[in-house]
Amino acid sequence: MIMAPSNKNLRTCSNGHQYYKSSDCPTCPVCEQERKPQSGFLSLLSAPARRALENNGITNLEQLSGFSEREILKLHGMGPASLPKLREVLKEKGLSFKNRAE
Ligand SMILES: [Zn+2]
Repeated sequence: MIMAPSNKNLRTCSNGHQYYKSSDCPTCPVCEQERKPQSGFLSLLSAPARRALENNGITNLEQLSGFSEREILKLHGMGPASLPKLREVLKEKGLSFKNRAE
């Protein structure tokens, strides 16, 4: 029998996953994992970088190409390491960042 850690609370998310969390963070780890895209440019990014784009409504490359590199870098969670990946996937689709500095 597995004893639950006494300092954590058993929670059930809206999808029925049960998990223990000691903090007030409402994020269900199972849902968070399932939310990760298996393909597409968002799957190439780290979770914070992916959320930075999603939180700004950027979920496809056409939307991404409407932003400049400077604007993307300013997004909370986006790091410089993600830019070369984004640049590359845009290029594969014949797209580029807006006002891209050469
Ligand atoms: Zn869940």
